[in-house]
Amino acid sequence: PKNDNIQVFVKDKLYPRSEAKVSVFDSSVQGGDAVWEGLRVYPEGVVCLDKHLTRLHESAKTLAFTDIPSKEFIKKAIKQTLDANGMNDDTHIRLTLTRGEKITSGMDPRLNQNGSCLIVLAEWKPLVYDNDHGIKVISTSQRRNSPQFLDSKIHHNNLLNNIIAKIQANVAGKDAGLMLDDRGFIAELNGSNLFMVKNGKVFTPFAHACLPGITRNSVMEMCKKHDIEITEVDITLSQFYNADGVFATGTMGELTPVVEIDGRIISKNDSLQKKIIELFSKEVRGLCESL
Ligand code: PMP
Repeated sequence: PKNDNIQVFVKDKLYPRSEAKVSVFDSSVQGGDAVWEGLRVYPEGVVCLDKHLTRLHESAKTLAFTDIPSKEFIKKAIKQTLDANGMNDDTHIRLTLTRGEKITSGMDPRLNQNGSCLIVLAEWKPLVYDNDHGIKVISTSQRRNSPQFLDSKIHHNNLLNNIIAKIQANVAGKDAGLMLDDRGFIAELNGSNLFMVKNGKVFTPFAHACLPGITRNSVMEMCKKHDIEITEVDITLSQFYNADGVFATGTMGELTPVVEIDGRIISKNDSLQKKIIELFSKEVRGLCESL
């Protein structure tokens, strides 16, 4: 299906795609000053909707946005957008909340006097990653922000950090850029979290310098439920190169094996990793919330 004629929700109502716009005075243009969530819709509903809305609210509060729309308002806007587009399955929603339109150009939040601006963009989007074959990645020279610079817990639109990592992966002909933290430990890929399987146990980096991903959290809870040992630790590249399995997690791509890191081949056949990926693909529908 094409996205040419989709309706997009901006601030308080729906517009056809060609008329869905924000002002050149909007905070997102004048400073990358916005927060966002990527949601996924299955026939059963939106995966972990409440957790996504909580993270959006917390990011906006940290950035001292005013007039933050309530969860109920956002849910209604999502439902209205999906209904208007006849979408109820395999849809991606890009939820963006900008600080809003400013009275003049500039980055000072006080220039904004009209409250925040919600954008609900629902699209039919092909999956970025090939879950069957897995993805190939390179480690990039671009470090992931740590709390010392910009807290990775804020899911903000200032994505240049990740975009530079993605450009390095593109130049190398790989699927994604692996980012280390400021101490040289694994942080995450440019758009998803990372896990490692070794000797029948599962490990993932602390959430210091990665987004505390909602899929990451679901995988950790699922492992605990099934008595699979999962621990947050500092992990080096060398440990990743020699892992029994490495996989990436994110709302859109679910769980995807990483089959190559900096030219080192990683198996995607580890039995525990296969079990986790299979369990998740079954259980993700149980995480959906209807609107
Ligand atoms: N890390 C980054 C940098 C991301 O942009 C995303 C996707 N929003 C993720 C991880 C995965 O997070 P989630 O599981 O909440 O989709």
